[in-house]
Amino acid sequence: MTYVNCPYCGHKLLEGLCGSCVQTKCVKCGQICFVKIDSDSVSVALLKTNDRLKQNN
Ligand SMILES: [Zn+2]
Repeated sequence: MTYVNCPYCGHKLLEGLCGSCVQTKCVKCGQICFVKIDSDSVSVALLKTNDRLKQNN
């Protein structure tokens, strides 16, 4: 199993097997993350960030 943490706050998101491709919401910070687990790497992308909204103020 591969453990995946939230790239925004570091909270543990899920455990997955190689080849998994899932979208999940972090229960701690509310960010929506797209997780892709390959055999030798894990990529996590935020689909929604609050940072852009803050920068507009
Ligand atoms: Zn988070």
